[in-house]
Amino acid sequence: REQQLRQTEKLAVVGEMSTYLAHEIRNPLCAIGGFTRSLLRSSNLSEKEQEKIRIIAEETARLEGLLSSILNFARPGNMPVEEVDIATLIHGTTELMRIGYQQAGYSFTVAVEKDVPSVRGEAESIKQCLVNLIKNAMEAMPEGGDIEVVLDRRHDFVRLGVRDHGVGMDEEEQDKVFSPFYSTKPEGTGLGLAMIKKLVEEMGGHIDLRSSPGQGTALYLYFRPVLE
Ligand code: ADP
Ligand code: MG
Repeated sequence: REQQLRQTEKLAVVGEMSTYLAHEIRNPLCAIGGFTRSLLRSSNLSEKEQEKIRIIAEETARLEGLLSSILNFARPGNMPVEEVDIATLIHGTTELMRIGYQQAGYSFTVAVEKDVPSVRGEAESIKQCLVNLIKNAMEAMPEGGDIEVVLDRRHDFVRLGVRDHGVGMDEEEQDKVFSPFYSTKPEGTGLGLAMIKKLVEEMGGHIDLRSSPGQGTALYLYFRPVLE
């Protein structure tokens, strides 16, 4: 309980920090975006200049989008809840990962049960969770290997699982992995699983971790189905 509380508090601090930063960045970015767009409309520019300014405008728009998703994320309980066709989302995302990483020695086995219902949640957040889980799985198998992605029904929930045959974790480590900033990787942020847990719980679901050292790890995300 006490540990859970500390964890929640840490996440709140992360949330506050990112909200503060996002607000500080937003005003100057607004000015950059506004002036860039008005420059684009002025007629006395050469084609080369126009092209450069168009790129600035596009990149600024991308940053503006990123910023508003950070602000949305940091605001508690403000996740837009939609009906997400999770089977299609999984096929699309794993296909992208396959294209990106099969060269590096990773294969993907996707097992999607027939007629799994849509779930309550937000597509972008679920995608973010899945990509993060797959990245962790790859990092647990630095030499490459097979990553299994499964989708099935479990009691009253829809279950999304990512399994690897990598280094695995002992019980002591399993207790820590959802803490913000806990990482065993030199370049790790330690925010992946903490964010996943927060997002899944905001969607009304929960997480289950199964792991054993030297054998591998399975992480399951449980979502609420949309009942027909
Ligand atoms: P990061 O990946 O930045 O380290 P995460 O929150 O995603 O942060 O993971 C935290 C830690 O949990 C990792 O550093 C690693 O020690 C452990 N971990 C997460 N996923 C796996 C996995 N699939 N296999 C083994 N260890 C894992
Ligand atoms: Mg990670």
